[in-house]
Amino acid sequence: MNTIKLNNGEELDSTYIIDTIDGVFGFILQSWGPKDRNPEYAKAMEQILSRLIESNVPFINVYVISRNLAKAFPNINDRAIKINGVTNINPTYKNPHDLRLEIGREVAAIKEKPSQNSKGGNRFKRVLIHAPLLSKTDWDLIARGESIDLYKPTVDDKKVDHIVLALQGQEIEEPRGTSKPEKISVTSDTFFRDPLVKAWVLKNANGICEACQLPAPFTRTDGSPYLEVHHLLPLSEGGRDTIDNALAVCPNCHRKFHYGDNKISFAEDVQTKVSRLSQSNDS
Ligand SMILES: [Zn+2]
Ligand SMILES: [Zn+2]
Repeated sequence: MNTIKLNNGEELDSTYIIDTIDGVFGFILQSWGPKDRNPEYAKAMEQILSRLIESNVPFINVYVISRNLAKAFPNINDRAIKINGVTNINPTYKNPHDLRLEIGREVAAIKEKPSQNSKGGNRFKRVLIHAPLLSKTDWDLIARGESIDLYKPTVDDKKVDHIVLALQGQEIEEPRGTSKPEKISVTSDTFFRDPLVKAWVLKNANGICEACQLPAPFTRTDGSPYLEVHHLLPLSEGGRDTIDNALAVCPNCHRKFHYGDNKISFAEDVQTKVSRLSQSNDS
């Protein structure tokens, strides 16, 4: 059983688990139990809240996950507490002590049925705290009182994109940035690419994007039209480096193939219009 630690390493009499409950991943602070289980629950909760603030967590969601409430409200979103009318709770909204009290009041306000008096008292309700971006390792560090900084520059592009997404819709102060970004050399697997395939596809397109049919948006310094080559089935997913799996596209369309919300239908559409492309990639 994991216990929450004070900053000096001393253990609190309060335990936690990290788990996914009803589809939501997060940190479960074991409640102040019957028979005086987890008596230092409140103190532990305040430690966690203050560390979430130090970690720059943009917001948290707090869900009540007690079994009887889960029966009454099967959808976990109906058990998300609201502070100031919203479920995305800014941890810096109040000091950790007052925020903990307010969370406690909101948790207590969630009842199975309005008429029903809960036995055992609402203080026994279990809660799950979800914070965007926090992994299991991060949560363990937070429970132990080791600091993490979510916005620390990282070489992990996926992590950067993940943070950027989580921050859309949040207020962001003008960042100072990094005047001298650190660098590191990394090794990665890449595929051998056939220059003839790329050259043929570009030449065949003759400066026109094979997806949107518009001319290349600009020319290179040598005067040739700028198009990129996209593999319908990525090489990393077993795609072939052949002309029936590669097409010349403008940068916009290329991004759309990779990031568009309708990228699957977009690709299918292009596939039916360009007869050269293999209609099924498993042949
Ligand atoms: Zn295009
Ligand atoms: Zn591509």
